[in-house]
This record gives sequence, structure tokens and C-alpha cells, in this order.
Amino acid sequence: MTRNYHTHTFRCHHASGTEREYIEEALKNGLVLLGFSDHSPYVFPGKYYSKFRMSHDDISDYYLTLGLLREEYRDRIDIRIGFEMEYYPKQFRQTLELMAEKEQTLPSGEKAGLQYLILGQHFVGNEYDSHEYSGMPSVSDRYLGRYVENVTEGILTGCFSCIAHPDLVNFIGSKKLYDKHMRKLAECAKANSVPLEINLLGLHTNRNYPNPRFWDIVKEVGNEVILGCDAHTAADVASPSLLQEGEAFAARWGFDLIDELRLADPLNYFK
Ligand SMILES: [Zn+2]
Ligand SMILES: [Zn+2]
Repeated sequence: MTRNYHTHTFRCHHASGTEREYIEEALKNGLVLLGFSDHSPYVFPGKYYSKFRMSHDDISDYYLTLGLLREEYRDRIDIRIGFEMEYYPKQFRQTLELMAEKEQTLPSGEKAGLQYLILGQHFVGNEYDSHEYSGMPSVSDRYLGRYVENVTEGILTGCFSCIAHPDLVNFIGSKKLYDKHMRKLAECAKANSVPLEINLLGLHTNRNYPNPRFWDIVKEVGNEVILGCDAHTAADVASPSLLQEGEAFAARWGFDLIDELRLADPLNYFK
């Protein structure tokens, strides 16, 4: 791995360290590109507060800080600015508008703003209206169907460069139902050339993802597969032991891992 696109910052309230520490760790581990994709702010109606994501007030500082570091480290590593974002149909447009309008101008005159998005569907529906965490164990056909609907509709916007932990959904019902829905997800990603991520944080911390059942389907469908660190501390940025774990997991299916993403225009939605 020479590129990691899945990196958080302290602004999401559950990650620690400074951006500089993450970048220095990336350099130490031989990365040529480090993409920051913190949990996106989201525009919600009413008083709903989502506690695992960046607040609207922090977007400018996120862009500015990373823009300045991008200039400072330019000769050593490519820094990209993005977000890990859900597809919530009701508020997607407004949220993209917010991300675009917060773009900053650096003292050099260069712009610092949104460069890419990865799709991480942490809740089904629109989050605020049902508050169903995607990783909650469930045997419900409807819940799995809604997760896949969110993700496939998200793919079809053309805004996302990759799907983070596509197998976050924690369906513990029949294999037949799981296969039916998740094959739809994999086929949609394949048809739209959006790679799927093997999530190293989930792998290392024994979460319900990566789920071997899902990767059986991916092998059959023939998707592009990439590793994502999902770093919430500097030590997680391309840590050699984490990468080894990820490569061993991918080797079970013989995946030919990709290293670089073709970055989709995050504002493609408005075209
Ligand atoms: Zn997180
Ligand atoms: Zn995530």
C-alpha cells in the first residue's frame, strides 16, 4: 500500500492526534498519498444532533489546516481533502452545498476545499428520522434492503470514489437473503466502477466487518478492492502489522488489490 484514503481527525470527537502526526506516520510507512476523510458534517432538520461527526463550524478549519499542510509537504507526500459521508437522500444536496461553500483560500491564493468523498453508510434511512445504526445485529429483510438501497442510490450519484466498509451492515439472518441484497450492492458498484474497501479497523478490532460472506460475493462479481486504514490515531496510518493483516485477508480470495482511486467529482450531483 502506498496510498490511504480513509483517515479521520479529532474533529469527529472520537479520533485523536494532530494531522501532522498522521502525515509523519504516513511518511515513515512509505505512503505517497494520504487522504483525509473525516466523518462529514451533515445538515439535519430540527434539533437532531449527530455526535460522531464534525460540526459545521469546524469545516473551515479542516480545509485550512489540511490545505496549509498540503503545501508544506508537497514535495514529500500528496495530501488530499475529503470526507467519509453517508448517502441520506433527504439532506444530501444541502450537505454538499455546505461543504462546497466552505472552501477556503490559502495565503498563497490556492484553494482548499472538498476533493473527494468516500461512502460510509453508518445509518440507514436519513439517520435523524429512524436512528438505525447499520452495524446493529438484525434479521430484518427490510433493514438490509434499506441499507443496500441507501448505498446503491449513493453510488448512482456519481459523487463517491469508493465504498468504505460496504459490509458494515450486520445482517445475521439467512444466507440466501444476505446474498440477494448484497449481490445487488456489489453489482451496482461494479457497474459504476466504484471500488470496495476492506476496512482494516474492523478487521483489527474484530468487528462484524469485513464479513467473509460478503467477500465471497465480491469475488464472484469481480469488483475492484482496496484496503482502507480507517485511521482514528496516527499509529493506525499504514501500520505495517495492520497492512499485513489486510493483505492476508485479501489473499484468502486472491484479490488483486488496487492502490489508487480514480477520484470522482464530489459535486457531480449538481451536474
Ligand atoms: Zn470513526
Ligand atoms: Zn466509517
